[in-house]
Amino acid sequence: MTARIREVVVTPVAFPDPPLLNSAGVHQPWALRAIVELRCGDGLIGLGETYGDAPHLELLRGVGPTLVGLDPFDTNGLWRRVGRALGGVDAPDRHGLTGGSSPQKTALRVFSPFEVACLDLQGHLIGRPVADLLGGRVRDRVPFSAYLFYKWAAHPPADGPASLVGGLPPAGDPYPEALDPAGIVEQARLMIAQYGFGSIKLKGGVFPPGEEIAAIRALREAFPELPLRLDPNAAWSVATSIRVAEETEGLLEYLEDPTPGIAGMAEVAEAAPMPLATNMCVVSPADIPPGFTQEAVGVVLSDHHYWGGLRRSAELAAMCRTWGVGVSMHSNSHLGISLAAMTQLGAALPELTYAADTHTPWQCGVDVLDRPLPITGGAVTVPDAPGLGVALDRDALARLHENYLRCAIRERDDTSYRRIFEPGYTRRRPRW
Ligand SMILES: [Mg+2]
Repeated sequence: MTARIREVVVTPVAFPDPPLLNSAGVHQPWALRAIVELRCGDGLIGLGETYGDAPHLELLRGVGPTLVGLDPFDTNGLWRRVGRALGGVDAPDRHGLTGGSSPQKTALRVFSPFEVACLDLQGHLIGRPVADLLGGRVRDRVPFSAYLFYKWAAHPPADGPASLVGGLPPAGDPYPEALDPAGIVEQARLMIAQYGFGSIKLKGGVFPPGEEIAAIRALREAFPELPLRLDPNAAWSVATSIRVAEETEGLLEYLEDPTPGIAGMAEVAEAAPMPLATNMCVVSPADIPPGFTQEAVGVVLSDHHYWGGLRRSAELAAMCRTWGVGVSMHSNSHLGISLAAMTQLGAALPELTYAADTHTPWQCGVDVLDRPLPITGGAVTVPDAPGLGVALDRDALARLHENYLRCAIRERDDTSYRRIFEPGYTRRRPRW
């Protein structure tokens, strides 16, 4: 069956995001995403999801019209068209990556949602799930990890500084304040009770390392069987990282991005008793040779949003296999199209030996889909339906687009948002 892309629609959306703390600041009250639709007529639509920041949106919208007439099976043609439309532009990113921007990183990031949408279309056209297009399932259930954050109870009131970002979502989130080990354990209990997660990640880099080690010890005591991870987002020096690694020996399945840069990570890796993982120092093809030859990381957190879609993420996993490097999966705040894409990819990756990260619990049920894929028993069952296995709820998409139009946020900026409440706050890596 043949089909051609007739129309490309990019819709920015905003959804409520709780005040989650990290080494760069605190999440703003609204998280931005862009929903990409490739329309082929007769109701045939391919879906993709990506970042919603204004500079990225502009690039997506520049590329969109150039895809009209493309065969959705021609993803090499898609890559060429994206490259031509971008013309070698180098656009920075605000999603936790380091190592600077590059035209290659920009192209991979812009290509990704269109590639995912093409794979969704291909699946619809041949009546098979995307996982089958990626080599077939190696598992029917893709495990995800509980993703714990230090957090405030709620965003400060809407009539105060929050008015600067266009007000607050009407409802808060069900997770209480978590600023110490007891709060983190309570959050884990709530999240695991609802979703059944079988592993736990703590976002660190918020408090001095000793406090975060105490939280890890408290989690170990409360959940003796579950693998634990700690991710301070490069908040520590090499010396601090080595000390924390030694103090957490036997407690962590991996330590994620303790310190900035490949050279620093390599120094820590040599001394650390556990593997180091990254979504900050090996984040593009150009990072692989130095990252792997210097043995800076034992696990790469793949992320199809910046590795250039699902097939290129599978290529990354194959390279990791060659080098004996493990594969896990990274996440930013996202909606259900991204979860479906991660699930299809996770189903087809033999190398995915760790539960993937997801921010899904922090969405608190908000989505653009009519039936989001549920997380039960800590995993998502791979849908049998064609393509990604999900469909848009047009009313929900309209509501989330309205949120976007109403809120004043146009780029993610955790540091500036935190500075509203703590004027002296600065972003420093390393901080300790
Ligand atoms: Mg990370």
